[in-house]
Amino acid sequence: MRRNTMPNYDFDIGILGGGAAGLTVASGAAQLGAKTLLVEKENELGGDCLHSGCVPSKTLIRTAHVYHFMKNSTAFGLPAVELPPVDYREVRKRIHSVISTIQKHDSEERFCSLGVKVEIGSPTFSDEHTVLLNGNKYSAKNWVIATGSSPDIPTIDGLHKTPCITNKDIFSLDHLPKSMIILGAGPISVEMAQAFGRLGTKVIVIQRSGQILSKEDKDMADGVMNVMISEGVLFYLNTSVIRTNDLGAEKEVVIKNLDGKEMRLKAEAILVAMGRSPNIEGLGLENIRVEFDRKGVMVDNRLRTTQKHIYAAGDITGKYQFTHAAGYEGGIVLGNAIFHVPRKTDYTFLPWCTYTDPELASIGMNEKAAKAAGIEYSVWTEEFKENDRSLAEGEIVGKIKMLLDEKEKPLGVQILGPQAGELLNEWVAVLNGKVKLSSLASAVHPYPTLGEINKKVAGTYFSPKIFSGKVKKGLKFFFHLKGRACELRENGVIGEKPWK
Ligand SMILES: Cc1cc2nc3c(=O)[nH]c(=O)nc-3n(C[C@H](O)[C@H](O)[C@H](O)COP(=O)(O)OP(=O)(O)OC[C@H]3O[C@@H](n4cnc5c(N)ncnc54)[C@H](O)[C@@H]3O)c2cc1C
Repeated sequence: MRRNTMPNYDFDIGILGGGAAGLTVASGAAQLGAKTLLVEKENELGGDCLHSGCVPSKTLIRTAHVYHFMKNSTAFGLPAVELPPVDYREVRKRIHSVISTIQKHDSEERFCSLGVKVEIGSPTFSDEHTVLLNGNKYSAKNWVIATGSSPDIPTIDGLHKTPCITNKDIFSLDHLPKSMIILGAGPISVEMAQAFGRLGTKVIVIQRSGQILSKEDKDMADGVMNVMISEGVLFYLNTSVIRTNDLGAEKEVVIKNLDGKEMRLKAEAILVAMGRSPNIEGLGLENIRVEFDRKGVMVDNRLRTTQKHIYAAGDITGKYQFTHAAGYEGGIVLGNAIFHVPRKTDYTFLPWCTYTDPELASIGMNEKAAKAAGIEYSVWTEEFKENDRSLAEGEIVGKIKMLLDEKEKPLGVQILGPQAGELLNEWVAVLNGKVKLSSLASAVHPYPTLGEINKKVAGTYFSPKIFSGKVKKGLKFFFHLKGRACELRENGVIGEKPWK
């Protein structure tokens, strides 16, 4: 008789962290028949995206957008509106009502109905298959670390003694700050800077490098910054923060520019948005030889940690810190851990968007990335001010940039403009589906839509070829076309060409 020597674990898979990555793995694994444990530290599932990230920030941005529209009613041919100041408690109420609506989808009851056992608490690995939690031991064949990230509080003189806020607090403030200094100019910072600025806060953004949104091409990032400057947001670029001081009702930030000149800025609130650090503390990874560094847990391209049966997905890996990246990685983990089909990550066409107004969306390589990779490229652009719908909407700032490689294959697309994130979705399909540019350029798009800009930029690549002198000559030769019927003279007068 053969003995079954397989170790008998409590669960097929155990997941630490109930955010975008963890919930994707948990629901998928349970629905595929795996006995699944999900451990979450907080009392509610949903993670950063739902409680202090994407959902509250996009809700706040929408509220600020409406208030901004009201203030600018005359630009739309409407009467001027006398507006009372914003009551942030009402804004907060709206934010939390959106969160609680979505929360139902991420409730413990729903996950239990899918077959997932949810435990609340702070787990620690006691060995590579077991965690200790609330005085109990839980073992699993595979584990997934999906504990996300937290705002990084850098070591700046005085910062730890100066009350400051992060994305954890900003959506629950009891009043709108009169003024705010934001440290850092990444996506979280600029989105919040514009939203709070529009609601009535005097906002200053401090950035160490020479541009905001430093991963983006400078021309596109500057487009966002210029709109924000026109709305009253102040930027200090090439500036480092020397120290902060708590002055009671006000907080002070001492900054230094490239010439070494110091300056003191004061505001009611300081928002720290200087990057993220991985939620590793207390997991006991050092006990089980799972390697990690300052950025996150190290993984291979199948998202396996240095213990092959322990995976990591989402912000904890320190790679692409987006909800859709976390969901994608959750799917990769499912493929590897449950289906046992080796699946590798591929971020070539991972899109993202910064939800400022105008939005800035990107897929594939931008000029910065292509230059860094030493790839030859050409750039094709179209401006929103040439798009009829943009003009009708009164949203004319921005452009689309399409990068082609030497073989004229698309490397990437960036869109700065109204609803750029939505417009990018057509490129998600085109690039992932390897659709020919000629198909996009010849496909009929409804008029008047912003999306016509996608078709048009693809068309700009073909038009010099179609309308070339060579083609014209050929047509003239074969079909005896007679050529121009009108000529605009140098002085702008319309005149007849003395044609033959
Ligand atoms: C202000 C802001 C705006 C954002 N806007 C966008 C956006 O518009 N679009 C976008 O794609 N992304 C956005 N993001 C990023 C997005 O929120 C994250 O990339 C996403 O939440 C990552 O998912 P995750 O599952 O890795 O981590 P999380 O969603 O943070 O989930 C991790 C979970 O693990 C739990 N946890 C932590 N430690 C432990 C522990 N020791 N034990 C058990 N559980 C633990 C946490 O409580 C949390 O529930 C934004 C982020 C912020 C801060």
